[in-house]
Amino acid sequence: MQTDLQIARAASKRPIADVAKRLGLTYDQILPYGHDKAKITHEALAGLSGPEGRLILVTAINPTPAGEGKTTTTVGLGDALNRIGQRATICIREASLGPNFGMKGGAAGGGRAQIVPMEDMNLHFTGDFHAITSAHNLLAAMIDNHIHWGNALDLDTRRISWRRVMDMNDRALRDVVVGLGGPANGFSRQSGFDITVASEVMAILCLARDLADLQDRLGRIVIGETRDRRPVTARDLKADGAMTVLLKDALQPNLVQTLENNPALVHGGPFANIAHGCNSVIATRAALRLSDYVVTEAGFGADLGAEKFLNIKCRLAGLAPAAVVLVATIRALKMNGGVAKADLGTEDAGAVREGCANLGRHIENIRSFGLPVVVALNHFDGDTEAEIAALQDYCAGQGVQAILARHWAEGGAGAEDLARAVVDLAEGGAQFATLYPDDLPLWDKIETVCTRIHRAGGVEAAPGIREQLAAWEAAGHGRMPVCIAKTQYSFSTDPSLRGAPTGHVIGVREVRLNAGAGFVVAICGQIMTMPGLPRHPAAEVIGLDDKGQVEGLF
Ligand code: ADP
Ligand code: MG
Repeated sequence: MQTDLQIARAASKRPIADVAKRLGLTYDQILPYGHDKAKITHEALAGLSGPEGRLILVTAINPTPAGEGKTTTTVGLGDALNRIGQRATICIREASLGPNFGMKGGAAGGGRAQIVPMEDMNLHFTGDFHAITSAHNLLAAMIDNHIHWGNALDLDTRRISWRRVMDMNDRALRDVVVGLGGPANGFSRQSGFDITVASEVMAILCLARDLADLQDRLGRIVIGETRDRRPVTARDLKADGAMTVLLKDALQPNLVQTLENNPALVHGGPFANIAHGCNSVIATRAALRLSDYVVTEAGFGADLGAEKFLNIKCRLAGLAPAAVVLVATIRALKMNGGVAKADLGTEDAGAVREGCANLGRHIENIRSFGLPVVVALNHFDGDTEAEIAALQDYCAGQGVQAILARHWAEGGAGAEDLARAVVDLAEGGAQFATLYPDDLPLWDKIETVCTRIHRAGGVEAAPGIREQLAAWEAAGHGRMPVCIAKTQYSFSTDPSLRGAPTGHVIGVREVRLNAGAGFVVAICGQIMTMPGLPRHPAAEVIGLDDKGQVEGLF
């Protein structure tokens, strides 16, 4: 069997200008990065007008650690829509460099449903993450420099929340002391590093409408407090202009193609826990103007990913999806039904039925947003007829279509049934509404998501949390949506509690204000913003072969 990398390498790619032409973009409207990647220029973006296509969200049940094939299904569905005569564009996130050298695997789909060039996409790509890292660290450097030269703003060095970032998994940098070595090196203080995808600059780039909005948002970033507890912003430090300069190219979406030569915009990649986990608003908007259908993905299961896509991205950008595809796999249903990972190879239709409780919960949740939903069963080789029948029976009982999709093995041809079902649903009309209004108090927003989506019986706040939220409301930040950071493996905060738990208590440990991105993060449980590498990182087996091609990456 061919690996994802072998399949991707054998792709017959079109020149990127031809892919652009399919979207109606001329050569002047793109900035080619080599033969197979290009950015769409700011000028071209500003000139886009006319009607928008339909937006389709791909999300999933609670995942197993391996991932359920959301990206693979997003790509396969996009190819299938093109095959049945729709003009469809795919919008997904860029990959973080760090996890590739740990154990994650690629982020460009898999099997016959992939985006190419996948090695580039998973490595340096067009340098966007480098630009984000640089903009973030420029602000960090300006903070310590400001203190070094007299601290005119009276920053409290113990209350600076802006850390540094890099795009690598490096646990040794989680907590560091900066400014050691004497007076010439500034004032020493405790700080640390996060991975680039956890940067607020990443979230901002993904929510900004254009360059002016980008600069405005960067200026609003709160980096810490003065000694009398007033917030200090990036604008106070006069960093917003230079940060925007560093990001001006990165803000333009990247155009690449699928294995079947259909257009894909791959742009931005915020974390799905402490941030909203979807590709950029700019890319989604551009794709909607350029095609009949846009297929996009939200990170993690629907309780986290779809919730944030709908309550944060769609709310802030004024987007409304036409339909939702809920990806399920037999193996994840079995795990949600209590089967251990080691036993997934054994047929167990009973466990599939049990696990369907998890699926049913997500179906209900998506419907509560007024959106029509179809289940895509991402077919794996070992799935048995009895197991598939168990899923289909369950879905029939819920009044939802469950469609077997074989895009991983067959490419777009394997997902044509799914594509037809999606078109039918999308044409039926959705009544999308976010879960809560902008003017609901911040704590009530957190409670609403935790009880209505995660189905908690109660929500508890650590000491000081409600006071902090009230202070932000008083400072004018009360209309923001909330971003719940918790484990993706369960509706609860206990990753081992699969299926459809109820009555659990969600504890909010910490809250963070992302004034630039425009949301308040509620941290429930242990959330890692700088991952580490495993005992045997993938980096140990990554290298170049005798033809100079990358080996061991996927
Ligand atoms: P997600 O976006 O949900 O994290 P991906 O689409 O990235 O998941 O897929 C995760 C991994 O699973 C990839 O390596 C992909 O090749 C593999 N995969 C996805 N679907 C299938 C399938 N039907 N059969 C075998 N492997 C699959
Ligand atoms: Mg994915």
